[in-house]
Amino acid sequence: MDNGQGRKNQIRPFLLNLPQLFRSGKANKRSTMHQTEENAKEQLLENIDRQAKVRAQLDPESTLRRNWTEQVTEFAHHFTDHIHQWNGYYPGTETAELALSDTVEDMGTLLQRYEKYISRQGVSPASAGHLGYIPGGGIYTSALADYLAAVTNEYAGIHFAGPGAVAIENACIDWLKQIFGFPQNSVGNLSSGGSIANLIALTSARDKHRVKGAAIEKSVIYTSPHVHHCIQKSLRIIGLEEAPIRLLKLDNGHRIDANELEQTIQTDRKAGLNPFLVIASAGTTDTGAVDPLNAIADLCETENLWFHTDAAYGGFFILCPEKQQLFRGIERADSVVVDPHKGMFLPYGIGAVLVRDREAVMHSNHYFANYMQDAFAEHEMINPADVSPELTKHFRGLRMWLPLNLHGIEPFRAALSEKLLLTQYFRQLLSQNGFMLGPEPDLSVSYFWWPDAKDPDAYNELLMKEIHRDGRVMLSSSRIDGRYVIRIAILAFRTGRNTVEEAMEMVLRCKERVDELM
Ligand SMILES: *Cc1c(COP(=O)(O)O)cnc(C)c1O
Repeated sequence: MDNGQGRKNQIRPFLLNLPQLFRSGKANKRSTMHQTEENAKEQLLENIDRQAKVRAQLDPESTLRRNWTEQVTEFAHHFTDHIHQWNGYYPGTETAELALSDTVEDMGTLLQRYEKYISRQGVSPASAGHLGYIPGGGIYTSALADYLAAVTNEYAGIHFAGPGAVAIENACIDWLKQIFGFPQNSVGNLSSGGSIANLIALTSARDKHRVKGAAIEKSVIYTSPHVHHCIQKSLRIIGLEEAPIRLLKLDNGHRIDANELEQTIQTDRKAGLNPFLVIASAGTTDTGAVDPLNAIADLCETENLWFHTDAAYGGFFILCPEKQQLFRGIERADSVVVDPHKGMFLPYGIGAVLVRDREAVMHSNHYFANYMQDAFAEHEMINPADVSPELTKHFRGLRMWLPLNLHGIEPFRAALSEKLLLTQYFRQLLSQNGFMLGPEPDLSVSYFWWPDAKDPDAYNELLMKEIHRDGRVMLSSSRIDGRYVIRIAILAFRTGRNTVEEAMEMVLRCKERVDELM
């Protein structure tokens, strides 16, 4: 215990040593020494006070703090009140003004710069008109949670340090376990996004099946050619670059064909290889296809393979009764990844992973260090830091927990069902206007192209350019079955009927320009 005496004892040797720095070798008289000691102490205290005065700027006094907060809040409200007028995309990449300046600046100037160079350039993820890539979210109540989390700065890595913050993370994980049918004793983690969540899952698969050293070259991974590229990235990061990856043939709906998977596994076994991991997608980025999860689960069970499902984009559609059939079998996966910053419309910075086998995930992430002894002595509670490469982390549980408690689940489910219907609506409009469509989509991603041109790829590429120049609604492109196609991905929570109608008008407007050009 610190009784004040201890503190003095800590300081004194330092003060006693100070004068020695100035000694010229001869011993000082006792009184002079005492004087020097007093002076040094005074100087030290003066120095502390001087630094403290400057440091105080980091803790603005109440009036200034409220003033700054008001300006930022006003900016946020103005932004949100007018977001419906915003384009999905603003061309432009001017960023020179964002370099740090040598002088301090006022909040107003900084916010003006924010509007001009940050908000009004590139994709507008919070707008209704973001129908490109996989759209983002940005619900307001989640931003309020982030504000609180940052002001109080709770520590969410270890239960001992932040029991409340960790309890909130675990509450979110428990809810995810429930909706994906994972057992209570499975583990999970809220990560920065789907990429890190996939990294955690794949590392667990590697460790569970002891894929290391010479085993790597023989340990086979099976997945779809439409798997998200962060999977390949993860495999390289965790040292599985040399593991053979079988990119399977897909069916007409761009899903893994379970028969093809089974045959490939058998062929590899006969060749003396060690099949160990199947990576399914519940909603691919290209086409939103959901692989046949239940059939894959059957295979993985009989063949003893790790069954991973990347549901970063599509996972939350499991909340929609009309789609639950598609997700049958996900509850049998060894690991699942889902992105609340996609399908729950939260601001960027939150992914989630569930792993059935807690030992597998702790093998690579749980670590005991002497300086952590207080944290571990307490109890056997699983800390977020034990299941993730992160130690100190953003208190990101709150940005999920607060909206779920404030709104309930129903508005999230309704938003997801609406997105599925809007995808159908957009496809109808496109078809009525003579565009060709990709197959009936599983979820809310689809694609189209204009067929009636001498060189359809060149035509559609030009159409894509015009759409980006227009910017009203953001669409993106891909190459599917060798064909250049334009994708529609409907997942932004603000996207509604009028957005789809505006998008159709925009596509026709841009097509007219292409017709003039070609
Ligand atoms: C978005 C996405 C990822 C990557 O997630 P990030 O949150 O961007 O890191 C992985 N897989 C799928 C299917 C995705 O849609």
